[in-house]
Amino acid sequence: MSIWKEESFEDKIYDEVESFFDKNIYNENDETLAFDIIDSLRDKNILVVEKDDNNYGYLIPLLYASKDKDNFKGFLISTASLNLQEQLKTEIEKLSILIGVDIPVTIAKGHVNYVCMKRLEKYLRSHQENVTLKDISEKIENEMIDKKDYPNISKEIWTNINVNGENCRKCLYNRECKYYLNRKSWSNAKYVLCTHDLLVSSLKRKDDKMFKDPSLLVVDEASSLEEKIKISYQGSITKKMLESLINEISYIIGNKELGDDVINSINNFYQKLANVIKNEYENNRKDYKTDSEVIIDTLKDDILVLFNSLSNFSKSIKLYQSTYSELIYLIRKLKSYNNVLYDMIGKRSKHRYSFYFQPNSKGLVSIKYERKDILELSSFLFENKKYGKVFTDSNIIVDNDDYKHFIESLGLDKIDDIEIVKEYSLGGSKIKK
Ligand code: SF4
Repeated sequence: MSIWKEESFEDKIYDEVESFFDKNIYNENDETLAFDIIDSLRDKNILVVEKDDNNYGYLIPLLYASKDKDNFKGFLISTASLNLQEQLKTEIEKLSILIGVDIPVTIAKGHVNYVCMKRLEKYLRSHQENVTLKDISEKIENEMIDKKDYPNISKEIWTNINVNGENCRKCLYNRECKYYLNRKSWSNAKYVLCTHDLLVSSLKRKDDKMFKDPSLLVVDEASSLEEKIKISYQGSITKKMLESLINEISYIIGNKELGDDVINSINNFYQKLANVIKNEYENNRKDYKTDSEVIIDTLKDDILVLFNSLSNFSKSIKLYQSTYSELIYLIRKLKSYNNVLYDMIGKRSKHRYSFYFQPNSKGLVSIKYERKDILELSSFLFENKKYGKVFTDSNIIVDNDDYKHFIESLGLDKIDDIEIVKEYSLGGSKIKK
């Protein structure tokens, strides 16, 4: 049974927060937000609220709630930048002292902010003289190395030693790698400050979430979330990506010639694609980006030839049954690219496509795609009715149309049976969905 239905707990939080504001000088806006947050904890609704960046009133009820270790499942606060994460952590520490709580706050940042032991070791072999690298190398066995502690490190060095999408699960260092161990611990953390990118990645994983369900999700600077969600569903396929994939698979199964035919098909297709885009550029558009109808109509047969060629390659490698995880991963990737080609020429395409030719980059040609049903996908991310969700921003809300636009931009209006409460401006009147 949900604790939030129990009158005593709810009343207790209201009373404690009220008494906090009696004793401490905070502005009215913080107080309004604090009480709205208690409503969202209780009702598991969606609260969309305009607030200034420095209104931290929402932290006060969350910190009081953290005293109830059994029933409060914690909070997940997502922010748009690393600076905001740090500011929030500082604010939580300050308020925790005032309120008399001590909670372990986890800051979850993207992998590019940390050093990978394996890559560091490799890079260090040819850069023994570098003092900073030596310093990192001495520390890395005992602590996670965060970029913020090395503000002067060059971009070139950093991009050679940071975590860059390696498959950590099969890495030989993973039992000792502090980054990997820390990341694994996120799924049990109760008080988390994460970035929007990580929030979206976690919500997209239905069964294997990075963060556990909290009692309240707060999305600060929420107007930038729409773009993050869109980007997370976009993809691209270049000639180089397909060729590398085929070469890697052929190398792993020990038959380098196996991919020769499909590599030819890839070359032919991308050559034709480049020619069509160049023709379009010269004849009418003066733009190296071409939209899907023109290309797909012109190259429908060629897309089919490439699709068949990749399918035949996939069939031929089935003979090489493998339990090798890298090969399984690459085969899945190949299948996903081929699904995109199939979708492109299918009648009910799920994606919107665009095609690019970059004349100054050795003729790089790429296929880019994004989901047509992005609003439905976005609404699925927030349909979980087990916890409340609060979206705040200082920019989105000026009048009712801005609220409407914001709510629609995330597909929140498509979620059934969840009340959406909108706060015009702090201290102003509330309206309901
Ligand atoms: S576990 Fe991942 S981050 Fe750690 S050393 Fe291995 S590849 Fe790098």
